[in-house]
Amino acid sequence: TELSKIRNFSIVAHIDHGKSTLADRLIQKTGGLSEREMKEQVLDSMDIERERGITVKAQTVRLDYTAQDGETYVLNLIDTPGHVDFAYEVNRSLAACEGSLLVVDASQGVEAQTLANVYQAIEVDHEIVPVLNKIDLPAAEPERVKQQIEDVIGLDASDAIEISAKTGLGIEDVLEGIVTRLPAPEGDRAAPLKAMLVDSWYDAYLGVIVLVRIIDGELKKGQRIRMMASKAVYGVDEVGVFRPKKEKVESLGPGEIGYLTASIKQVADTAVGDTITEERRPAEKPLPGFKPAQPVVFCGLFPVDAAQFEDLREALGKLRLNDASFEYEMETSAALGFGFRCGFLGLLHLEIIRERLEREFNIDLITTAPSVIYHMYMTDGTMVELHNPADMPDPVKIDYIEEPWIKATILVPDEYLGAVLKLCEDRRGIQQDLTYVGGRAMAVYRLPLNEVVFDFYDRLKSVTKGYASFDYNIEDYQQGDLVKMSILVNAEPVDALAIIVHKGRAEARGRGMCEKLKDLIPRHLFKIPVQAAIGGRVIARETIAAMRKDVTAKCYGGDATRKRKLLDKQKEGKKRMRQFGKVDIPQEAFISALKMD
Ligand code: GDP
Ligand code: MG
Repeated sequence: TELSKIRNFSIVAHIDHGKSTLADRLIQKTGGLSEREMKEQVLDSMDIERERGITVKAQTVRLDYTAQDGETYVLNLIDTPGHVDFAYEVNRSLAACEGSLLVVDASQGVEAQTLANVYQAIEVDHEIVPVLNKIDLPAAEPERVKQQIEDVIGLDASDAIEISAKTGLGIEDVLEGIVTRLPAPEGDRAAPLKAMLVDSWYDAYLGVIVLVRIIDGELKKGQRIRMMASKAVYGVDEVGVFRPKKEKVESLGPGEIGYLTASIKQVADTAVGDTITEERRPAEKPLPGFKPAQPVVFCGLFPVDAAQFEDLREALGKLRLNDASFEYEMETSAALGFGFRCGFLGLLHLEIIRERLEREFNIDLITTAPSVIYHMYMTDGTMVELHNPADMPDPVKIDYIEEPWIKATILVPDEYLGAVLKLCEDRRGIQQDLTYVGGRAMAVYRLPLNEVVFDFYDRLKSVTKGYASFDYNIEDYQQGDLVKMSILVNAEPVDALAIIVHKGRAEARGRGMCEKLKDLIPRHLFKIPVQAAIGGRVIARETIAAMRKDVTAKCYGGDATRKRKLLDKQKEGKKRMRQFGKVDIPQEAFISALKMD
């Protein structure tokens, strides 16, 4: 295809502002799929994604559109992942395009992820076309939202396109806007092959499918290609495009977006952002800005039933085939036995993997406290990365500890601002900025990631009745007054409950955890002390009273079936417990104990 007839674009939006609905409309309008094939939201395919309304994997679709000028254009839409955890993938997807549609719900206005996403688009020099969606709603206020886009983002919104992705109103204007307002790509077909690896995923029949954007040169079947960062060499089996169904093509040229397959076994061999070139005639320099995504949140995953350990290993291997950004390695815990220490891009990523293990692989899991990576500067001058509180070195050998800090942006209606500021202050937040934009407040805070990693987002949603939007990025590492807090149940430390905590907050956290555990651990025939300790010093304690009588005693002698039912029920309950010393600790205790309220 001629360069002047190509337009590559993304849609950036806050969640629920209508990105998927608009994408579906664009596909429908240009005849990519029949009405019957449309079904529901083609671009969000995985179950969990659909339920949560997020996109994890970037998806792409090539549309043919005959514009009002009589010419036929190829429009490539690259969908971007919809969550802050996948910011790096968003960046790469955007870098594969020349422009973006900025979709804002005209009844809601600009939200935290609107800002985060549009700033990313600006960073990669996109031409941006503002689109106001949901103007069919009586609550739509397009004029106010245009003003907001100008005030907050600094984009000219005077010719924003007003649409309803639901009714189909204005879709033609969007297509014309893409053709007339976004730039065509540039590139040199005669130059050596240079293509960006935008994304990859595992297909049971074809192996790894690699999504690429061609910058220069040509990609063809039979070519031998080299990944410039990983240095691996492959023979190309197939080249094609998505309409949105896979369709083979002879070759892909400059400006084009499509896929290749090359008998690649696992996604881990294809790093997002890597540059693909031809082995025989390589490009001189790779594309700029390559940095592989790194896990930032770690936790232990243990099977509730120890016999499921091998199943868990196999399931993790299968998930990893399709997701190179999560890591795992075997871990043994005195409390929980054999399991895996896993690293994730963020909390949502952790939850997605955990949910898939439980749902798709039927494995009941115990998840230990999520932890961030601490930098331990040792007295001998070395630096040790700590991923697991259980591995904390002897404090006398530690000179000082650094922890990661984030910059968080929170948008919230005025009436909830007080609650949000209190939450941030409680979590050691430092206010950077506070502004008002059209009836909403925007608070920018620096926060230690370790205070956010657990339940910050849930708390934020609950204190603002769901009206706050939140986005963050990791800024730097800073020295912190941090200690390891152990939890002792019946005088024995439970390693899976140990956490790293700021000294100033240790006592409150310790008290909170002991109180929670007191309610979570069932009564036994004996009294159980629950203690929080730093080093040898106990900072909080609770006691679980002994059970007074045999539970079956209240079933009056006679009724044997009732008695058995009760015992069966107890047994069922037992399955979801782990025995620790003489004490049974229920599965949910490991996570619930950490919740702060
Ligand atoms: P995404 O999270 O940005 O992909 O948003 P979706 O496309 O999933 O849309 C979120 C919700 O808004 C869905 O319930 C849609 O049906 C609804 N929606 C999308 N566009 C419109 C619109 O133009 N008008 C109205 N009334 N609802 C819409
Ligand atoms: Mg969506």
